[in-house]
Amino acid sequence: MNAGRYAGRTVAVTGAARGIGRGIATRFADEGAAVLMIDADPAVEDAATQLDATSPATVLGVQADVTDETAVTAAFALAERTWNRLDVLVNNAGVITISRLEDLTLADWQKVLAVNTTGTFLCARAAAAIMRRHGHGGRILNAASGQARQGFVYTPHYAASKFGVVGLTQSLAKELAPDRITVNAYCPGIVGSDMWDYNDREWGRLLGDYQPGELMAEWVAGIPLGRAGTHDDIAHLLLFLASPEAGYITGQTINVDGGMFMN
Ligand code: NAD
Repeated sequence: MNAGRYAGRTVAVTGAARGIGRGIATRFADEGAAVLMIDADPAVEDAATQLDATSPATVLGVQADVTDETAVTAAFALAERTWNRLDVLVNNAGVITISRLEDLTLADWQKVLAVNTTGTFLCARAAAAIMRRHGHGGRILNAASGQARQGFVYTPHYAASKFGVVGLTQSLAKELAPDRITVNAYCPGIVGSDMWDYNDREWGRLLGDYQPGELMAEWVAGIPLGRAGTHDDIAHLLLFLASPEAGYITGQTINVDGGMFMN
């Protein structure tokens, strides 16, 4: 097994039980990082055990809901106790619901804002405290979305939550810069995952008479690079943003979407 360019570094990834987050955790672990996989779903523990078995450094899994302040504190305390440092946080955990305005409940509005925006704040606060205490600098990478560029129909709460991530990213980038902690956001376009299976079904239902997979195929056909994104497409951007070569980049929001958005 190769030690990898992230050997000796520690990375926390939220929403890592499946989907893009699991892909990101896998790529950092492949590169030699010790990884803490955090997820509200207890399946994160099995996912971490599997990744640990094939990784050069330790991979731990912890069940924690990113909207639960006590659980977040405990998860990051585990990282500090285990490794005595934290180099990178990837705030990947996110949720979406899709409904017409008249059917959008306050509970769904609050849940999406709570996970996507408040969860990002809570984890960034916990991670930055460790990074500051240990004085090595750090990287905070926040999942935004194409919906941080332009709101899509039937998802005002999701768009608001992801625009919120951009504002939070810029503000924290300014505050944490003196500690050499950079804070950037990234915008996936369309990446196959459980979330996109749901999007395809629910947008398809509300926008017209789509068969499963048709709406996603139609939207992917409009992507200049001609395909959906992969977990690795996202992870490769994050490996760069977490690298020494990206040390002069902060407060930015970067699209990784095959050209779907150019603003
Ligand atoms: P997914 O639904 O497949 O996976 C999300 C993961 O987050 C799951 O493991 C889930 O258990 C976890 N999670 C949800 N709520 C949580 C909470 N409160 N605390 C901890 N973990 C929680 O989603 P995905 O498609 O892999 O998306 C990952 C991120 O990328 C999200 O922030 C999403 O908004 C963003 N994104 C995805 C796409 C895409 O095309 N899939 C596009 C733009 C942005």
